[in-house]
Amino acid sequence: MAQREYERLRVQFATFCGCDICRGDVFVYALNRLSPHYVSTREGEVITAINLDTDQEKAKLDVVLFEGFRKVAAAPRCGAKPVTL
Ligand SMILES: [Zn+2]
Repeated sequence: MAQREYERLRVQFATFCGCDICRGDVFVYALNRLSPHYVSTREGEVITAINLDTDQEKAKLDVVLFEGFRKVAAAPRCGAKPVTL
């Protein structure tokens, strides 16, 4: 679910690096904002653990994912050129 939302937003940000490192960082950032508990687990488990039953929760995920994109794009750890989304 979180992955699908990521992909949906990803296509809107053509300049976003999108490598494994940046992708992982977006998730960690977003999940950390949703619940600090998630960060201590591995990314794969985290993604499947998220259960978005309501539109409200989905909207919240979109917001934090969007923030994550902006943060990661502004300072990619992988060494890609920083971009402003
Ligand atoms: Zn990258």
